[in-house]
Amino acid sequence: MKNLKFLLVLPLLAIVACSDEPVSDSLTEENGAESAFVDDFTEVAFPAEYGRVSDVYFGGRKLPVEELNGKYVYQGDIFLPENSTTKTPVDLILEAGEDPSTTDKSTGRTEFLWPDNTVYYDIDPLLPNQARVTDAISHWEANTAVKFVKRSSETNYVYFTPGSGCSSYVGMVGGRQPITLADACSTGNTIHEIGHAVGLWHEQSRADRDLTITVHWDNIYSGREHNFYTYVEAGWDGADYSEGLDLGSIMMYSSYSFSATGSPTITRKDGSTFSVQRSKLSAGDVEGIGVMYPGPTTTTEETTTEETTSGTGETTTGTGGTGTTEPEPEYINGEYYTIEGVTVLRKDDKWWVQKGKNWKEVELIDGRWRFVK
Ligand SMILES: [Zn+2]
Repeated sequence: MKNLKFLLVLPLLAIVACSDEPVSDSLTEENGAESAFVDDFTEVAFPAEYGRVSDVYFGGRKLPVEELNGKYVYQGDIFLPENSTTKTPVDLILEAGEDPSTTDKSTGRTEFLWPDNTVYYDIDPLLPNQARVTDAISHWEANTAVKFVKRSSETNYVYFTPGSGCSSYVGMVGGRQPITLADACSTGNTIHEIGHAVGLWHEQSRADRDLTITVHWDNIYSGREHNFYTYVEAGWDGADYSEGLDLGSIMMYSSYSFSATGSPTITRKDGSTFSVQRSKLSAGDVEGIGVMYPGPTTTTEETTTEETTSGTGETTTGTGGTGTTEPEPEYINGEYYTIEGVTVLRKDDKWWVQKGKNWKEVELIDGRWRFVK
């Protein structure tokens, strides 16, 4: 679990409580049921379309997705790479002797971060309002160490292209990966989708989110509950890079995301709703991204240090590692655990999975399970 950093759920440092500059005025959040799937703060790949929800296996783990228009859609606006996503559970465990680093089955596990902090990109000539893209890229470059370079002949690149909604893959998935932008997708939505493309999940997926927010499952549109799982519940591992959930994160769902009733789906612990924003990366966003892509920002010399701990009076210290300092858990013989998406039995200080009628020993190699023989 320690070295898989691609999954970043972003941090709270300073509260950027509410945006007073809405990024789009074409949609509002106050229309009750209208807001069920469409508000400015809930990017969706295919607005007003609903697909069958099923479990798929991707990158060695199982997670619930919606199947729509030939795509596996996760949490509304995230696409999973079709060629490395399968419905076959057996793919979770490598055969004896298979090298996790050289098998196709590890696709998606090792390529999530963009090498050298550099995202190559191109823009579909048919995409309207391309300033959304260039403005969003400028914002990223001004605030993070991620560089965006117009693609010439590189194999792996982001392609900004028109689509039904706003969507992206998470991290670098290999080849040309689209970020789709419907006309309604704003510069802020584009900043959010770029966040996915560099490896971010949604803020409310943090493992520790229940300390800050309450998910109101009864108010969620039926069948869309999976959009509110934490990454742990969804079978992912990863890291939260700073203390606590950041309601100001550009990756945060709104209080009304996927509401069936117009009642909030997410509130603070005290029951109150909150404002989210789609204007800019929050201080917490910038801090977390700095852990994934360290270095000076591309367009300024500013360095990110502890001075960003403002606003909340919290004593958070910089980008201090989480995830890497977790103590090794102690496993109890006779207990079942779900690790890396596989339910395994601890017995005789070894790991076992049931295959047919038999129990077979497995081992964990570089984050992948493998049969011992
Ligand atoms: Zn998103």
